[in-house]
Amino acid sequence: MSIAILPARLANQIAAGEVVERPASVVKELVENSLDAGATRIRVDIERGGHKLIRITDNGSGIVKDELTLALSRHATSKLKTLDDLECINSLGFRGEALASISSVSRLTLKSKPAQQNEAWQAFAEGRDMAVQVQPTAHPDGTTIEVKDLFFNTPARRKFLRTEKTEFNHIDELLKRIALSRFDIAITLTHNAKVVRQYRPVSADDAGAVKRIAQVAGKGFASQGMHLQSGDQGLYLHGWIMPQQTQTEPQYTYVNGRMMRDKLILHAIRQAFEEHTQQAQVPAFVLYLEVDPRQVDVNVHPAKHEVRFHQARLVHDFILQAVQQLVASEQTLIPQPSIPPATA
Ligand code: ADP
Ligand code: MG
Repeated sequence: MSIAILPARLANQIAAGEVVERPASVVKELVENSLDAGATRIRVDIERGGHKLIRITDNGSGIVKDELTLALSRHATSKLKTLDDLECINSLGFRGEALASISSVSRLTLKSKPAQQNEAWQAFAEGRDMAVQVQPTAHPDGTTIEVKDLFFNTPARRKFLRTEKTEFNHIDELLKRIALSRFDIAITLTHNAKVVRQYRPVSADDAGAVKRIAQVAGKGFASQGMHLQSGDQGLYLHGWIMPQQTQTEPQYTYVNGRMMRDKLILHAIRQAFEEHTQQAQVPAFVLYLEVDPRQVDVNVHPAKHEVRFHQARLVHDFILQAVQQLVASEQTLIPQPSIPPATA
């Protein structure tokens, strides 16, 4: 066996294995790109659960014609230049991998028009060497990325796609999380040409948050959830918690505006409740943790589901205490386990 460099497309397909698990992961990467581009309106059109089509349209900064091809190549990013930048990441993306990965396992068209450019251009990537064709097109200021036939050329991955309904539910759930990360963004979600969700922009403060949470998680959560606000040692935690036994959703956590399923945070919340109620009661919550970006490493997981805190113990105990205090102060709100009527 001789050693050879992998062809670009194959290398990208291998990388895609880490980032692109299912249609919802494509939606995540593309919507995060729209947010990084400063979009205030994002439209997500899905056909057949994303098996057939995923199309994201935004009104963000756009990509200039000369950079369309570059945007589709691996390790191409406008968000990171030096190692110092990596230590202190403010954008959602930074790996420069998503578009290259997605375009290697689908038929991807990228249309864009930056405000400063008079015409819109589109790039289409397909073929073994990922040769990109660039052509003139029509598009308002902003960007549309169309992903057709996901995994058409990787049957092994396609086999793992679930039914259209299940895949669509994953997309819907993901957009709920994103909708609660940025209240000021308008998001529309359609499925098979029907509008399924319409998140209207609200103010980026607590009042806005309550409205957006009501849209996402129902009025009950927004009005009955306990408001948490706590800061200490450079850490700031705020959000809403609803202790209850019937509804366990949503359970959303964010670190510096990035949605996370962080075990450490979940553990601290659960522990605070267990100690207080003497039972494994799982609350619903939407919680935002703000921490110095230098104190957290987001480059742990290709899809960025996890972070690593430099001072894990400190963060854990801070959250534990914040939730403990809240639970103690609003004890009456916690439904006690109902005692079954005694039977004679
Ligand atoms: P990353 O987000 O890690 O930089 P991506 O592969 O997701 O990598 O995107 C590559 C580059 O393409 C981005 O750095 C950005 O410059 C550009 N880009 C992608 N999507 C958009 C968009 N919707 N609007 C403007 N620029 C975009
Ligand atoms: Mg990206």
